[in-house]
Amino acid sequence: MITDMSGPIRDLTMIVTQTRDLAMSAVAIRDIEPGQEITISYIPLGMPTIHRKQALGNWGFNCTCDLCTAPPETREISDERRERLVEIYYAMQDETTNYDTLVELSRELVQLARDERLLARAPEYYQSLMRIFYSFGDQETAWKYGRMSLKLAEILSDPEGEFVSGIRRDLDGIDGFFREG
Ligand SMILES: [Zn+2]
Repeated sequence: MITDMSGPIRDLTMIVTQTRDLAMSAVAIRDIEPGQEITISYIPLGMPTIHRKQALGNWGFNCTCDLCTAPPETREISDERRERLVEIYYAMQDETTNYDTLVELSRELVQLARDERLLARAPEYYQSLMRIFYSFGDQETAWKYGRMSLKLAEILSDPEGEFVSGIRRDLDGIDGFFREG
């Protein structure tokens, strides 16, 4: 159920992942001041307000993070970005999406994820981009996104974990020219 215990939802302090031996590991992605409160997310990052409320309801509490307590206008902007992210994510997997559209969508996706500070999900987004560009035969772009995914995943998740080794295998499958020795 807890697939992505990272967060807090907006103002990300640390990322917690489960390692292969089922221990939990935590990586701070910003400096943590003495006495600063550290929060984590109980639900996958990137959900719009209404879905967050529903999901968190299952845990029996109301979230008081920056985003959930932000003024409605702020939450609306954030929700629009998050809904668009989901739309793009599906549009990219759609077989009828052509290459030029894909390029545009990929830029929009990266920008939206940045605006929403969804760093913890970036490895997964970049991985999808790698696979999709690869399926279009654009190995150079696939390689670029694969490297970005790997770089972040090595910091944000278990460097020996399944996600990282999966990305490595994918990169190994990308042909000669773009490969590092
Ligand atoms: Zn919240």
